[in-house]
Amino acid sequence: MLWIIDLDGVVWKGKEFIWENIEAIKKLKGKKVFMTNKATSRWEIEKRLKQAGLEGEVVTSAYIAAQYLKGKVESAFALGPFGLYEELALAGIHPTEQAHLAEAVVVGLDKFVTYDKIAVASDLVREGRPFIATNTDKVYPTEGGLKPGAGAIVEAIRVSSGRDPIVVGKPSKIAFQVASKGERDVIVIGDKMETDMKMALENGARGVLVLTGVTKEPPEEIPEGIIVVKTLKELLER
Ligand SMILES: [Mg+2]
Repeated sequence: MLWIIDLDGVVWKGKEFIWENIEAIKKLKGKKVFMTNKATSRWEIEKRLKQAGLEGEVVTSAYIAAQYLKGKVESAFALGPFGLYEELALAGIHPTEQAHLAEAVVVGLDKFVTYDKIAVASDLVREGRPFIATNTDKVYPTEGGLKPGAGAIVEAIRVSSGRDPIVVGKPSKIAFQVASKGERDVIVIGDKMETDMKMALENGARGVLVLTGVTKEPPEEIPEGIIVVKTLKELLER
């Protein structure tokens, strides 16, 4: 049995831990993989999980992108947070600013994006380099309201290059393969139907939709293979 556990809206919400869920996760039997669509490094997530007393393997969309490109290219032009560069380097892919050396383009949420970076990335993609998106989230919530997500940057490059990206984050098959490593009996825990539960359903896994994150009410139609719980404490009582 393998649990794939989403982070935002399940283990924490912004800066706050969701202790009721955390205590329940500690009691789950089986292997645990913590998974986020954020293009961050595994190290940053592991560090935060430790603060909550949780341990397990970590899979981020930066790590999935790096695994996807590993052995295929030696270098990439990347737009994203520091953790994306770190994961690429750990997989033997040199992040480079020198466009003529870049063999791929990898795009996550780059808070320092500029017109020039979009122009370089678009040129490379138009010329035929692999175009990898860590995720295509349109917006993400902050204390100051919704802010543009990685999808906004991916879209700029997609439109100007005329080519669609390979999206490696949830709910993609690639994401499930990297997280599950061929394990058959998998349950995905998450707070979003369109990413967490979709990934479960499309890969023959089961799902637990928990209402502690963005989804506040159970969906009108609950697909077979999915259960809905208010908190993960309720899951232990079943
Ligand atoms: Mg979530």
